[in-house]
Parts: sequence; C-alpha cells; structure tokens
Amino acid sequence: MLSTINVDLHDADGLYLNINGNNMIKKLSLIFGSKTKAQEILFLRDGAKKVVRQGFYDQELPKVELYCKKHHLYFVKSRFKVLLADDSTYSNKGIRIPETDKRSGMFFVYISKEEEKAWLAAYHEMMNNPGELGKALGYPECCVAYFKKYFSEINTDLQKPPTNPWTNLTKRDKDCVLISHFPCHADCHKSMKIARVNLDVITAHDQKRAKEMMNVLWPKKFENL
Ligand SMILES: [Zn+2]
Repeated sequence: MLSTINVDLHDADGLYLNINGNNMIKKLSLIFGSKTKAQEILFLRDGAKKVVRQGFYDQELPKVELYCKKHHLYFVKSRFKVLLADDSTYSNKGIRIPETDKRSGMFFVYISKEEEKAWLAAYHEMMNNPGELGKALGYPECCVAYFKKYFSEINTDLQKPPTNPWTNLTKRDKDCVLISHFPCHADCHKSMKIARVNLDVITAHDQKRAKEMMNVLWPKKFENL
C-alpha cells in the first residue's frame, strides 16, 4: 500500500521527527511511548490543550526533548522522580524520590507552547497542590474539586463505571482513552466536551485511529450517541 508518511531523514539522530500522514499517531507513539501520550501532543499542537503532563524514564527523555525542541514546545522536567507501584503502569500511586536517587523512577514532564504554563504546572505539582495543578492542566473545575475531595493514598482510583465512550477510563490499559483526568461524574458535560474536541483532533490527523478508539471505548453502541 502506498504510504503518505513524511519523515525527515536529515535529523542527526535519525529519529522520526517530522511525521505526517497515515499512521501518524502510531509513529508519534514511538517517540512518546504510547498512543495516548502521542495523542496528547496532537491536542497540544492543535490548541485543544494548553499543557501536557506525562511521565518518562531517563532513557525515554532525549527523544521527547528533541521532538519538543524541533516543534517549538517548552519542556520542563520535574526535580524529583516517582517510583510507581508495581501493579500498574497507569497507576496514580507513587513514592516521590530525589532525582539523584539511583533507583529507576519516572520523571514528570510538562510540555506547553507557552513557557510559563509549563513551569506553572511543574511548580504546582512540586508543591503538592492538585487544585492549582488541575486548573493549569485545563481540567474542569467540578472534576478538580471532586479529585481534591476524594483522592487519597488509599483511594487512588476514582474511575467510575462508564455510561458513554467520552469519559470511559476503563480502557486505559489498552492505550485507549479520550481524557486525562478523573471526571467528577461519568456524565460530566465539561469532560464530555473535552473528549469530543479531542476526538475531533484525532479524527483530523488519523481517521482510522479515531474509529478504532470508538470501537474499543463503546463497542457497537456508539452509533446511537
Ligand atoms: Zn466534572
């Protein structure tokens, strides 16, 4: 099959940096580590999101940083690492350790088109201020309040049973999710609106991926929505 992929081969590191065309999200995921992370970068580049917060291990950071540099995105790395609980790669549980600690922890990275927004998100996370961090990341106020009220060390998974594809977080382990926060309610309208805008961005770049996602998030039911 003919491909419309456009790869800039002039980069010294041979990384796939200028990627357009079919399978764009899959190609971007080679840099960012998952399709969900790759999609967030598209939301950012298309203006649907102001700041992206993602976790990376040391060895993953150079290509992410290089991509950001090439695309004029500000990249701020946390001054600490997080040791994630073993049972889940998408876990919210984690122990914070100094960046100099020898153990292999994940760094948080804040990416934005605006430098101050990336720094602000990094600052609020460092200060353990989930309310301001949530706002900086563009989460709806109702969901930020919900998170502040219910999230704790012993209650780290605020996932609700899905009632629609938009706020469905249950397929995160299959790399398939449209929002990056816990909605206050499965039918939270503000969250659903964010998810719809995000799906539009995905569709604009990669229609096949958009269809694939809806099939996973709401098998055979989404025609009725
Ligand atoms: Zn909400």
